Amino acid sequence: MRKLRRSGLIRDPKEVVEWLKQRATRKGDCLITHLGRAKGYPATAVAGEDWEVHRLVFTVEKGPIPEGLSVLHSCDNKRCIEAAHLRVGTQADNLKDMAKRYRGRCSDWYNYQLKQKWRSV
Ligand SMILES: [Zn+2]
Repeated sequence: MRKLRRSGLIRDPKEVVEWLKQRATRKGDCLITHLGRAKGYPATAVAGEDWEVHRLVFTVEKGPIPEGLSVLHSCDNKRCIEAAHLRVGTQADNLKDMAKRYRGRCSDWYNYQLKQKWRSV
């Protein structure tokens, strides 16, 4: 059974981001989350739904991610949740970045999830 993280009980994405930041460590310009998992980006749950934390932070602080675009780290640290280090990029940028780090997985699914999310708010 999947463990429900504490943040998963919070329904407001803004509160989840506050929760993440309070528990993150400042390293230079970066804000490093302690959440993690073996592969890919750290994720947490909002109202029981899994979100990659950098996408969540971007969405809350900068607005919805435009369709077809991905959230990229300018600092290349996937655990960083500093909004200033997050930018949207094209799928091509992301694939280039992902190819460097690990073999890609489809981010379209995340965009789809996001659209559903904001439609239902
Ligand atoms: Zn950073």
